[in-house]
Amino acid sequence: MINLLIMGKPGAGKGTQATKLLEYYNLDHVSTGNIYREEIKKNSVIGKEAMKYLAQGNLVPDKMTNEIVKELLSKENYPNGFMLDGYPRTEAQAEALDIMLEELNIKLTAVINVSVDDEVLLHRMAGRRVCSNCGQTYHVDYHPPVVTGICDFCGSKLMQRDDDLEESVMNRLSIYNEKTKPLLEYYHRKGLLVVIDGEQDSNKVFKDIIESIGE
Ligand code: ADP
Ligand code: ADP
Ligand code: ZN
Repeated sequence: MINLLIMGKPGAGKGTQATKLLEYYNLDHVSTGNIYREEIKKNSVIGKEAMKYLAQGNLVPDKMTNEIVKELLSKENYPNGFMLDGYPRTEAQAEALDIMLEELNIKLTAVINVSVDDEVLLHRMAGRRVCSNCGQTYHVDYHPPVVTGICDFCGSKLMQRDDDLEESVMNRLSIYNEKTKPLLEYYHRKGLLVVIDGEQDSNKVFKDIIESIGE
């Protein structure tokens, strides 16, 4: 059983590494960002509320986010373990997660921090494209699809995320520094933190992560 947290600034490559790790260890993905984007697409009650925050790059309130994760962790089954991506992002979320895990008697294997400098991130987010249908992520220079603008997996059109436009990116970075960065110290104190150089080619980043986890 492997239960991972993947952390990093917006655009660091969490989603990209999550995809590889899920396949390698056969884990289930719990991505709060993906959940919110899907709810927005469905125009659900959660989606309508979340939309107010996502477009500007602000965080959705902790209460709503914690409830979603709690529901998923307690109701779903993760036979080989899970990978939490994009959660927790605040100290209050990390504390709520600790309580959930304790109640469910689940232990985290490791907290992986994909570390990347701000300048690299800006290029990554500017070139990020996502599939409008299945959510697969590409980059115009670093991970281009076979056919420009079209998803390799499902053939749907690629688009740019609203929150990848300049203003929202700067806002997300400053929110990260203020609210999320302190969590690295939190997990370091628990002896769970693994720091990975995220500026390398994505296959090398992946190799470093699995070496740090073992097996
Ligand atoms: P990124 O690719 O920038 O790391 P995500 O896809 O993880 O972003 O999240 C996109 C947006 O969804 C965030 O900017 C935020 O508005 C919302 N969101 C995702 N996870 C959380 C969370 N744990 N707490 C609050 N808001 C969240
Ligand atoms: P996050 O989930 O942390 O926001 P993504 O995985 O969506 O980040 O990656 C952000 C962008 O950078 C995407 O366009 C992705 O294709 C690209 N990318 C991810 N990892 C790397 C890497 N190691 N080198 C170059 N580009 C990368
Ligand atoms: Zn697709």
